[in-house]
Amino acid sequence: MQQRVAVIGAGAAGLCAARHLSRDLTLFHPVVFEQSDCVGGTWVYTENTETDQYDLPVHSSMYSSLKTNLPKEIMAFPDFPFDKNLPSFIGHQDVLKYLINYSEAYELNKFIKFHTRVESVQLLVENGKIRWNVQFCNVKEKHVPHEKQVFDAVMVCNGHYAIPKIPNIPGLASFTGIISHSHTYRHAEDFQGKKLVVLGAGASGIDIALDLAKFAESITISHWKKTLKSTLPENMKQRASIQEVVKNEVVFSDGSREVVDGIIFCTGYNYDFSFLHPDCKLAVNDNRITPLYKHILHTHHPSLSFIGICSTICPFPLFSCQVRFVIASLTGSMQLPSKEQMELDIEKDYQKRLAEGLPNRHAHAMGPRQWQYNDDLCHLAHIQTVPDVVRKLYDAVHDERTWNVANYKKNNYKLIDDNTFDKLETAVH
Ligand code: FAD
Repeated sequence: MQQRVAVIGAGAAGLCAARHLSRDLTLFHPVVFEQSDCVGGTWVYTENTETDQYDLPVHSSMYSSLKTNLPKEIMAFPDFPFDKNLPSFIGHQDVLKYLINYSEAYELNKFIKFHTRVESVQLLVENGKIRWNVQFCNVKEKHVPHEKQVFDAVMVCNGHYAIPKIPNIPGLASFTGIISHSHTYRHAEDFQGKKLVVLGAGASGIDIALDLAKFAESITISHWKKTLKSTLPENMKQRASIQEVVKNEVVFSDGSREVVDGIIFCTGYNYDFSFLHPDCKLAVNDNRITPLYKHILHTHHPSLSFIGICSTICPFPLFSCQVRFVIASLTGSMQLPSKEQMELDIEKDYQKRLAEGLPNRHAHAMGPRQWQYNDDLCHLAHIQTVPDVVRKLYDAVHDERTWNVANYKKNNYKLIDDNTFDKLETAVH
């Protein structure tokens, strides 16, 4: 019997879900809810930083000069390559265009309800069968009453780079300079001639610090990680993390101090599932979401699933594995273990991470774990996994980034086959 599936969000994850659900419309009837007026999610760049034209909080965290930190050859969904004429590291506009092309190629727009925000998802038990009551509203027409529809399954694809996280730093309220976050950062030119601290040396922190270095007088990238080995621009240096702030002065945990004009927080984001009714029984504790089997399926009622929770990944290929894994569980082509066994699996994964020294908040961080994870999902669901060349190129780029962070995006690559890639001679300037 055909299952009605609600997909929340039409970013890369939601589009991938719609594409695979719509392969066989005798099995599934997908309805994708998207609060904005277009597909693409975080890749839809906007100059707005607070709210959009419908008074919704701005979702995108793109900045104007952003180039991808992964080459397009491995960013792509496995069965839908980027335009071959583009360089390997591309602008956010090219990624958005790719997602629009993906949506058009698989005729996904007909499944998407634009301007439609999901406000609540509630468990509904009918004759012992679990279903989902999804309440939504039209963001353009506030006077129109909210609607409800019942679904057999819900795939949550709402992204997790939209709610900025700012750490509690003693004295921050007394800071007299500019306070910003990577979510609202748009143009380096806005910081012309300023002395700045960028807090955080994750992908965005390093990228934004390098961008700012072109215009700012000085950049201090403050972080608790190992010292970056790469050559940095002359006006950029590294320091330990921030201990406190006193008016216009930042005190670092090594005791050094600096008078600065602004602090840019590149300190990550919080997950947000506020539309899930408490009876969904999803817990978010210091960035750890439970109880999710394989970081995807709710163990109490696996017809509620989450795509893209994992971080430090090659996103589109991983989304493709997760989506097809969910579909295999919905069709029954994959038998799920018992609830208890799924919960044991979650606990085993979590304890392994703690034993490796990872903090609780990295419960969904992947990095080198992602390849085995993809293979496990695909093995369980009897589907094709990500070709090994993706791992090889990801690792090569990761390696080059450690010593050549300012220039690695000038490289170009070509995939030869499922196992081999070439680094091309001509660099892009
Ligand atoms: P999103 O793209 O965030 O999409 C979620 C969608 O859900 C949005 O359209 C939103 O409007 C909608 N939505 C949310 N809540 C609701 C609701 N209640 N009702 C209806 N709709 C809702 N990845 C790479 O592969 N390479 C890169 O180089 C790269 N660089 C990045 C740089 C930045 C600055 C950021 C922020 C991310 C980057 N990423 C990169 C990761 C990127 O997040 C993923 O590639 C991917 O686009 C995430 O897709 P998503 O669908 O999970 O989320």
